[in-house]
Amino acid sequence: MGLKLFNTLSRSIQDFTPSRQGRIGMYCCGPTVYDFAHIGNWRTFVFGDLVRRHLEFKGHAVAHVMNVTDVEDKIIKRVRETKTSLREFTGKYEAAFFEDLKTLNCLEPHHKPRATEHIPEIISLIEKLVARRVAYQAADGSVYFSIEKYQAAGCHYGQLVKLNPDELRPGERVKSDEYAKESVADFALWKARAPEDGDVFWPSPWGEGRPGWHIECSAMSMKILGPGFDLHLGGEDLIFPHHEDEIAQSEGATGRPFVKYWLHGAHLLVEGRKMSKSLGNFFTLRDLLAKGFTGREIRYLLLTAHYRETFNFTLEGLQGARTALARIDECLGKLCEIGSLGVPPSGGSPVTPPEGGTPNLLAAFTAALNDDLNISAAWGAVFDWVRETNRQLADNFLNPAQARAALAAWNKIDSVLGIGTSPEIESPPEIVVLLEARQAARKAKDFKRADAIRDELKAKGWAIEDTPKGPKLKKL
Ligand SMILES: [Zn+2]
Repeated sequence: MGLKLFNTLSRSIQDFTPSRQGRIGMYCCGPTVYDFAHIGNWRTFVFGDLVRRHLEFKGHAVAHVMNVTDVEDKIIKRVRETKTSLREFTGKYEAAFFEDLKTLNCLEPHHKPRATEHIPEIISLIEKLVARRVAYQAADGSVYFSIEKYQAAGCHYGQLVKLNPDELRPGERVKSDEYAKESVADFALWKARAPEDGDVFWPSPWGEGRPGWHIECSAMSMKILGPGFDLHLGGEDLIFPHHEDEIAQSEGATGRPFVKYWLHGAHLLVEGRKMSKSLGNFFTLRDLLAKGFTGREIRYLLLTAHYRETFNFTLEGLQGARTALARIDECLGKLCEIGSLGVPPSGGSPVTPPEGGTPNLLAAFTAALNDDLNISAAWGAVFDWVRETNRQLADNFLNPAQARAALAAWNKIDSVLGIGTSPEIESPPEIVVLLEARQAARKAKDFKRADAIRDELKAKGWAIEDTPKGPKLKKL
């Protein structure tokens, strides 16, 4: 069954058909490394990870590029304020970003280009635009993209957002990297060196300066993925001007379509409101880890909502994530126990389970995600399967081979969900000693003492579960 995705370019759900055989080029706008990424940013990166994992699950090879924006307006401001060097400043946040990406179990992108290491590519792209007369150097020394010349050449500015042509003011210029739709104007490709830039500048045919933010992504994506590729992802806040400008720069330079499918993830609210430091609802991933939540729980919660819906992230939701994951873990734990046995748990001949369960899981899960990544329906399939499996386990319906087949199916869908299984809880040595003492008491048929130790363990927050493989400690 084919994959359907909502393409911002056509404002409609379309069949996803890669433009050529081989690897699918997928570019995700990466972090601007001037601070720790917040939970709203993480929603977008987890969404990108889901897209990649689903494509791979469907058998596609993906070339996943995520750039690192390590020079732009906000970074330069911070470098100035902190009196550090550019590399020293951005290096710290870049390292933190990739550490956090790992904590959320996002697959590492195949390419992680840094803007500052692509200055020659950026310059050569701007040279092409100047040669094609859609870019010009202004009196302030900076190079701008001319929307008027671009439109005159038959190209369309306003592919991702509707712009009123009457509102376009030819010749007006905007130099800052971020601006509103109302301020649409010729935008900066190369910014002439200014005193406030400090040491951050490079030589260029137009004098010393630095690149604008938008041209960085055009240069790096086309260098790695070629002039036209299939997928470009980002948060919806990047649609304008960043992605619109990326299209203009790339198509203005190559004269051919830049990206086939544009996918945008929706905003995130925290506790029902727009995240803000003054409201106390601004969380980085690290803030949430410090509250005792795990990357796995945070990933799960971020993956519960459809990517095009605004999602309300709450601490209560994280508690709910913990409960939901525990349900899955419990089911998987039981399947592991049975699967590791050579004989059925009942000791009798295996009973054929009723139809349903595992085969339905894969089909329903795949169909849901093929439908523009309908994650709610996908989780619905997972929890239907957990319920059905628990019922079969309770009825002793599953033999070891069936349990192993169920686990294999789970592993397949988890290659998309990426939530894994609960890490083994390390039992403290004194608890293990008590467990051994209980076993010894049981062996000696001193059940009174064995029960007393069980109670002592319980008081310390540990339960004993007797399994076919022997007793297991479980944290209460
Ligand atoms: Zn970008």
